[in-house]
This record gives sequence, structure tokens and C-alpha cells, in this order.
Amino acid sequence: MAKTIFGRIAAGEIPCKKVYEDDLVLAFHDVAPQAPTHILVIPKEDVATLNDLGPGHEALAGRMVIIAAKVAKELGLAESGYRLVMNCNEDGGQTVFHVHLHLLGGRAMGWPPG
Ligand code: 5GP
Repeated sequence: MAKTIFGRIAAGEIPCKKVYEDDLVLAFHDVAPQAPTHILVIPKEDVATLNDLGPGHEALAGRMVIIAAKVAKELGLAESGYRLVMNCNEDGGQTVFHVHLHLLGGRAMGWPPG
């Protein structure tokens, strides 16, 4: 199957504004930010949606959350707060079918979400 845009970013084929990288994940600025700070944390492994995560992905899923929190701290969001979002499939609003965690901060977030 053809790689998604995030698969290509993870493979280094397309540039991104990187803020963090390790063996499992990559974090970079969203190209169309929905908040003053909008970072995406993606796995290097090609995983299409949250539905495709299972046993064996615990370390990966945990790493994504821990790195999002670390980046939030480094970008000065920890005290004021921020939101982590993962969209799944059509009703969730997912548009790129490579699992990703949105880190949104720098403004107050509404609830319930749209
Ligand atoms: P989703 O709607 O799937 O949860 O989120 C996809 C996100 O990827 C959107 O916020 C969108 O702005 C972002 N995005 C789409 N294409 C690119 C790209 O080529 N580079 C970057 N950095 N972000 C992208």
C-alpha cells in the first residue's frame, strides 16, 4: 500500500519542522495549526488508525503520550495547559491515515469539542 504523507515524513522523504525524534516516534509542527502551538506526534511504524493498535503497541502508544507531554513542557505549555487529541476514522475527523496525536496549546480549548 502507498505510504501516507506522514509515512513519507517518518521515512525522511518529505521535510517537516521537527521538534523531537527517537527510535519509535517523531514530533513536528502541524502545517495548518489550529492553535498557537499545534504539534503532531506520529509513530515511525505505519499504523493507519487507532483501530489498528493492539498488543505489541503498548510501548509505542505510551511513548507517543509521554513525548507529547515532554514537548508540551519544553514549549512552555505545561502550566497553562494543553489538549491531546487522536482522531479515528470519519466520525472522529481523521484525514491522514497514519496514527497521530495532536498536541494543541497556547489558548483555552472549548468543551465539548466540535
Ligand atoms: P487528522 O485530521 O487526520 O486528525 O489530522 C491531520 C493533520 O495533519 C491536520 O491537522 C493537518 O493540518 C496536518 N497535515 C496534513 N498534511 C501535512 C503535512 O504535509 N505536513 C504537516 N506538518 N502537517 C500536515
